[in-house]
Amino acid sequence: MHRVMVHQANYDNCRVAVDRAFDLFPLEITGKKVLVKPNALRASNPEQGIVTHHAVIRAIIEKLEESSPAEIIVGDNPGMMSYGANEKTFQQTGLMEAAKGHYRNIGSEAVEVDFAPKFLDRISVSRAVLEADVVISVPKFKTHGLTIITGAIKNSYGIIPGALKAKLHQKTGEAVRFSEMLVEVFRLKVPDLCIVDAVLGMEGNGPASNDLRQIGQIMASDNAVALDATMARMMGLDPQGLPFLEMARQTGLGDYNADSIEIVGDLPILSNFKLPPKARTVPTGAGEFFASRIRLRPRADKELCTGCETCVEQCPVSALSMVNDFPEVDPELCIACFCCQEMCPEMAIQLR
Ligand code: SF4
Ligand code: SF4
Repeated sequence: MHRVMVHQANYDNCRVAVDRAFDLFPLEITGKKVLVKPNALRASNPEQGIVTHHAVIRAIIEKLEESSPAEIIVGDNPGMMSYGANEKTFQQTGLMEAAKGHYRNIGSEAVEVDFAPKFLDRISVSRAVLEADVVISVPKFKTHGLTIITGAIKNSYGIIPGALKAKLHQKTGEAVRFSEMLVEVFRLKVPDLCIVDAVLGMEGNGPASNDLRQIGQIMASDNAVALDATMARMMGLDPQGLPFLEMARQTGLGDYNADSIEIVGDLPILSNFKLPPKARTVPTGAGEFFASRIRLRPRADKELCTGCETCVEQCPVSALSMVNDFPEVDPELCIACFCCQEMCPEMAIQLR
């Protein structure tokens, strides 16, 4: 039986929920190397809700400092193309200050490991991740255009440094194959504890949309499959319809079935929760929903776009180009990975 904690919290009192998570899921960390991995998707302001809030990371660091591990590292690999967790992301989001001197650019050193040959024989993973004795994953409660939700399992995609993430997007393409690859990455270093920032969540066109949603919870579990399944239920989704959860279950990483999960706390079901858009031509239903991902294409909003060209630089298959200072997609080249949408600083890209 898995356990998932759901604890009411805000950013001023989240330390209480973090303490509760450590009580429910005790970790032996004295003298150990502990990595704390937020979702630091890209440089943004805390109130935009794109990354794990700095208050949650600060609460975790303060808790760890009281428990005397040998070393604490806070790091992530933001972005799709550039190597290294860039300092700009951590500075702007407030994560640098929250890390209290424990920030490390975990993208600066990587180690090659065997991977799933159907995708790539070998891939690089941040050395700090592989060498950590204990990994605490701290995702954000959000939707995602490709995987529908982004939680604990998706947060592990950030153990891969920059440009390789884009290459794997290119290798996998559509959503179901991407989900399979995602589980393979997750398996490389399964987190010991996952603590979700579900105080301010995101719905709609995530993982970088203007649709923020006050949820007021901190969630935690030592099993990422059960935790993501619980997030899915809160969003009104059947976890069985999420391919990455089914693949994780089949791989023996955990169970998403409700009768295998004990909820510690009260589970709120979020009414009328907005999921990412699906192609209009496709009927509803879990399988069709994922099939529709293939038909969606990004389109920039002329009112919001500043012509910065970030989307063009981040596209792993060069499907975007600037035409009259405005990005246009080549639908034949586009693999519907939605990296452009994730990285657009103006949140100007919609899926159509
Ligand atoms: S990243 Fe966004 S703002 Fe920049 S060119 Fe692309 S759509 Fe426009
Ligand atoms: S245009 Fe956007 S969605 Fe299409 S392949 Fe490029 S980054 Fe991915």
